[in-house]
Amino acid sequence: MARSYFRPNVEAMTGYVPGEQPAAGAKVVKLNTNENPYPPSPEVIEAARRAADETLRLYPDPTARCLREAASRAYGFPAEWIVAGNGSDELLAMLVRACVSEGEPVAYPVPTYSLYRTLVRAQGARAVEIPWAEGYGIPEGLASAGARLVFLCRPNAPTGTMVPADAVRALARSLDCVLCVDEAYVDFADSEDDTCLELVREFDNVVVLRTLSKSFSLAGARVGLGFAKPALVNELLKVKDSYNLNRMSLAVGTAALDDIDHMRENAARIRKTRARLAERLAELGFDVLPSQANFVFARIGHPTRREPQGRSRGRTKARELYEALKARGILVRYFDQEDVREGLRITVGADAEVDALLDALNDIHHQDTKSAKND
Ligand SMILES: *Cc1c(COP(=O)(O)O)cnc(C)c1O
Repeated sequence: MARSYFRPNVEAMTGYVPGEQPAAGAKVVKLNTNENPYPPSPEVIEAARRAADETLRLYPDPTARCLREAASRAYGFPAEWIVAGNGSDELLAMLVRACVSEGEPVAYPVPTYSLYRTLVRAQGARAVEIPWAEGYGIPEGLASAGARLVFLCRPNAPTGTMVPADAVRALARSLDCVLCVDEAYVDFADSEDDTCLELVREFDNVVVLRTLSKSFSLAGARVGLGFAKPALVNELLKVKDSYNLNRMSLAVGTAALDDIDHMRENAARIRKTRARLAERLAELGFDVLPSQANFVFARIGHPTRREPQGRSRGRTKARELYEALKARGILVRYFDQEDVREGLRITVGADAEVDALLDALNDIHHQDTKSAKND
């Protein structure tokens, strides 16, 4: 047999599976990838227009200075404490590259963002996946896993749950490695100052990641930010792509950070819709986890149809429901993964989108009761 061209760990792994992106113009209610239903700031659109000129023949600033200075103004950290990424996904990859050698352990509580596992496998490192403690708290074994890097997603995806900042502080203190606090969704938390950003001043080993993809409505621009002490930032800079953010992204990211109030207003609207969505879903019989993010995780609580009890029931129901919604033009996220296949992750869309989802769920529910009666 021919020798493989690829590293064994790469051959053995599956790639990250992003949520489906329907073709442009397709008529769907898209509640599957946690995008923001509201447009970015008008300043952002203006900045994009201004950036679309003949200067595109020039390379972008490899240090992303204008963006980092805008982040400095917005968050109150010196620009030297900030690293920019082509989305925070790239910052996650930089962390694995900079901190973890082949075969070394990377630990994180699960279920969580599945990209962590993909990055660890691609590196040939070892994923130490520890189930969340009761009530989605930090699990005991996390601090003692001997990891070279720990990921903590806060609020967590796909559950929407959030560990208290004090618990993160205690974890940071007990770790002898870098702790990455992934705050991709923190702008949607009920309390605006419930963040781990300040831990960066206290600890040499903490990096906090933010993204403009969700709360700033810029998923298409790919802008992520990492906050850490300069010594940590400098190691990350060594392993980044030289021109990781393009000129358009730098321009729109800078404009978005300079109009942070626009983001805050949208986040407040989404919080309101989230409360309504969670309440209605609970009325429909779903078991909804308390969410601090722009999505909710709804588990199939009370089956609407009499079915044989069995381990696969939740799985079948969640997948069936996902398919039934899709047939009605509504996309939500179903993960065919051991620990989350009993539920659906539903992005908090605009009010009209959420209404369309609720109508479809009602419709499916009525059809189910009808066919159960006819059995
Ligand atoms: C969306 C997301 C990110 C990264 O998003 P980018 O678009 O790459 O900035 C990181 N972590 C979590 C948990 C996410 O959901």
